[in-house]
Amino acid sequence: MSIQTVNPYTNKTIKSFEEMTETIVNDKIEKAAKTFSEWKKTSYQHRADLLRRVAKLMRTKKTELAETITLEMGKLLSQAEGEIDVSASILDYYAEHGETFLSDKILDPEYGAAIIRNNPIGVLLGVMPWNFPYYQVVRFAAPNIMVGNTIVLKHASIVPQCAATIEKLFQEADAPEGLYTNLYISGENASKLVSDKRIKGISLTGSEEAGTSIAMEAGKHLKKVVLELGGNDPFIILEDADIDKTVEWAVVGRMNNNGQCCVASKRFIAVEAIADEFLQKFKTKLSEMKVGDPMDPNTDLGPLSSEAAAVHLADQVKRSIEEGAKVLLGGKRPNCEGAFMEPTILTDLKPGITAYHEELFGPVASFYVVKDEQAAIHLANDSEFGLGASIFSENIERAKSVADQIDSGMVFINHPTWTQADLPFGGTKQSGFGRELSELGIQEFVNKKLIRISGLNDPF
Ligand code: NAP
Repeated sequence: MSIQTVNPYTNKTIKSFEEMTETIVNDKIEKAAKTFSEWKKTSYQHRADLLRRVAKLMRTKKTELAETITLEMGKLLSQAEGEIDVSASILDYYAEHGETFLSDKILDPEYGAAIIRNNPIGVLLGVMPWNFPYYQVVRFAAPNIMVGNTIVLKHASIVPQCAATIEKLFQEADAPEGLYTNLYISGENASKLVSDKRIKGISLTGSEEAGTSIAMEAGKHLKKVVLELGGNDPFIILEDADIDKTVEWAVVGRMNNNGQCCVASKRFIAVEAIADEFLQKFKTKLSEMKVGDPMDPNTDLGPLSSEAAAVHLADQVKRSIEEGAKVLLGGKRPNCEGAFMEPTILTDLKPGITAYHEELFGPVASFYVVKDEQAAIHLANDSEFGLGASIFSENIERAKSVADQIDSGMVFINHPTWTQADLPFGGTKQSGFGRELSELGIQEFVNKKLIRISGLNDPF
């Protein structure tokens, strides 16, 4: 397997890294386990101070960190800077609220007195994707470090410099050795680590295939797992939507991060009355996008994360066309170097066509026309995935009623997608289970210990 920085704008290899040997990985897990036995005794204040120092370092080094993201996976530089800001805010959020979220819950039982105390559980294994190299790691690591757990992290092989930099940030912030450890290993070897007795829980963000592999091992060894997987989010446009504003959000929803967000708008579902107007305006906006260098502030759409990702996406589009889909815009790789794909709109999609079922991870929008609101809800739910969904309508009560009928972990009204530290994030169906961020995210890897206090002479 290769652990490499390859600039997707040029497809040139910049730097290669060695996979760690079993002995090195074993020593690192041993260190993480030893550190856990000390870290779990530290105060919340001590842990919060560390998170705040990491957040501060991130803000100080924002440009440098953002440039490495753009170099390794092609995100527009301005968006990479935004990712660093959000990541720092998540660290600060858990520093500020972690102790309150984890404080004892006093129960009022029928007999005696009792509390629930939140204890840490040990070393956690994180397996993370490349699409938000800092944000994905921080939303898992920050709450768990606050809990008192320690982290070993296998990052995606195409972002090794981001992976090493995150570990370095913790070191520079004076984290004890073993609190946060980067592992350069393959996905297969990450799955094998699940059986290690010192690993007490696993969180994976990535594809269904990787999630299945980790979940199978976790099931075999009875370990808690959180899975944040893919999505095929519907973007529903009702007849009372403000079409011009909706089109603007549709472009952001599909093209943010060069089309590579798990929670991106992927299936555009318009009711008949406004479908033509929406589609023409959407097509015009996408065709005006300036494709190019992600470091250039004038670029609207950069490359995909890797040549392999672009080849895979182009193949999904090609198969969809062969199966009956029509191309309204784009549909091909542009004739230039780099991992590019044209902004694309596919129409005439129906069950059996690849694009109807699979997640298209890039700048390709699937467009559907439906008769009415009920048909939109039915189509939105006709998916294996259930991560996010958007509903555009001027009537908020109506949109809330539609939201109630959508099978997904998150629904956004009059917005394509959103994330912030104090809102829970996660999906249902094949999009995974468990939640990250907010108070829910800090409760995933804790032992909710019951402590009951009785009088010595109480009856049995
Ligand atoms: P991926 O191939 O599954 O990779 C994610 C991570 O899993 C990487 O670290 C990868 O390592 C590792 N991995 C691959 N195969 C594995 C295996 N058999 N066992 C254990 N680990 C394995 O996914 P990706 O292509 O990088 O990311 C895109 C996918 O992630 C999309 O489906 C997207 O929707 C989803 N995603 C979901 C969320 C969410 O919050 N729900 C957020 C972001 C992304 P290598 O890099 O070494 O292969």
